[in-house]
Amino acid sequence: STDSSDEVTKSRLAAEAQKKYGNPPPTIFSKIINKTIPADIIYEDEKSLAFRDVNPQGPVHFLVIPKTLIPRISLVADDDTELLGHLLVVASKVAKKEGLTKGYRLVINDGPLGAQSVYHLHIHVIGGRQMGWPPG
Ligand code: IMP
Repeated sequence: STDSSDEVTKSRLAAEAQKKYGNPPPTIFSKIINKTIPADIIYEDEKSLAFRDVNPQGPVHFLVIPKTLIPRISLVADDDTELLGHLLVVASKVAKKEGLTKGYRLVINDGPLGAQSVYHLHIHVIGGRQMGWPPG
């Protein structure tokens, strides 16, 4: 059934994450991936998910995440290159679908000084208003 293949996929992804990154604790984003808590999902494929941020910092604010649990950008390895590229392509395509034709901001926060609060890698896509520089 679909359910058992979902379970197989989940356990495979968990095993891969554990092997590569130790044993990172799952975050609320794992529950969004598993559909055990609701989210406003605007894109999904076998490797990634995009959903609206609950605390939007602009008229459009969504997150693009890998389904595999990479805790933070500072922990990525050479074999994540293809996946990271894929996440950027997804960000660009969904931004276009969201109508962000005049530009937008991508952000990846890492660790305490980067103000990361959820330790499951995510790309913020924020748009629909004029951005400033430098960021806060
Ligand atoms: P960080 O500070 O870069 O780690 O960003 C985490 C983001 O996740 C914040 O912008 C939060 O508003 C967002 N967030 C946390 N929990 C949820 C949720 O359950 N659904 C959607 N977005 C969430």
